[in-house]
Amino acid sequence: MDNKSRSIEKIFTPPVVPEGDGARVRRIIGTSHLKKLDPFLMLDHFNARLPAGFPDHPHRGFETVTYMLSGTMYHEDFKGHKGIINPGDCQWMTAGKGILHAEMPGSWDEPADGFQLWINLPNKERYCDPQYQEITKDKIPVVSKDNTTVKVIAGESLGTKGPIYHRTPTFYLDVEMEANGKLEQLIPKNWNGFVYLYDGEIIIGPNEDKVGKNSVALLKREEAETLIIKTKDSKAKFIIIAGQPLEEPVVQYGPFIAGTMEEIYHTFEDYQLGKNGFEGAMEWASEIKNMSKKKK
Ligand code: FE
Repeated sequence: MDNKSRSIEKIFTPPVVPEGDGARVRRIIGTSHLKKLDPFLMLDHFNARLPAGFPDHPHRGFETVTYMLSGTMYHEDFKGHKGIINPGDCQWMTAGKGILHAEMPGSWDEPADGFQLWINLPNKERYCDPQYQEITKDKIPVVSKDNTTVKVIAGESLGTKGPIYHRTPTFYLDVEMEANGKLEQLIPKNWNGFVYLYDGEIIIGPNEDKVGKNSVALLKREEAETLIIKTKDSKAKFIIIAGQPLEEPVVQYGPFIAGTMEEIYHTFEDYQLGKNGFEGAMEWASEIKNMSKKKK
């Protein structure tokens, strides 16, 4: 019995909700089960294929992190930035003062399966220039111990650090555990965090709670720093996400995040008038949104 593990606040199965154009997502953060988890604003587990997708839409004031498990996601923004996020790749996009983009599954047959996390920005960084950190699979460190393999997308695990430059300190780990596996993961004290199982079953925390597929274990704050996760006779695949709370007021209006309601009004104005980061937004239309029309 491990009694030094960080404790579990609650275990729940997030609901599936409609999103984008015809897509359905399992919403891990952003429903009544877990409205927000400072610094995180939203997390979706998507599984979408054409003609569903996420055609032209804006973002401001935060970061979107897209991590692909399988399938591909096409991406195009209003400044001409284009690409494909392949299985195992991570696109860490800082929307900052403004991004208008489209995200479309790459196939009519194979679903794009992955996660999109929204991370709030500190007030002092909210209107920074947009930035992409395109972390392809080969740039994500992989570490193994005790029948457990961790892909360190961001933060640190088993003494290995991930490649992301952080404005908001965040851990993002993708873990695959064989039977009889064990991971002792350091979560900085006072950080918020959770584990989401996308396959198999784990045993977690000081009370050895069971967590099954498509369920979340929300960690208690201000507890011991080490989180202990184990498997018995079955394998498991899960992500661990944790972040340092910003503890600043936050106002969300759809795809716009700000510190005050007044900033949200200014954001609508900037978007409609094409200024302060949204230059050319009203005139722009993506090419990839047409992917949903061209049945091969
Ligand atoms: Fe988006």
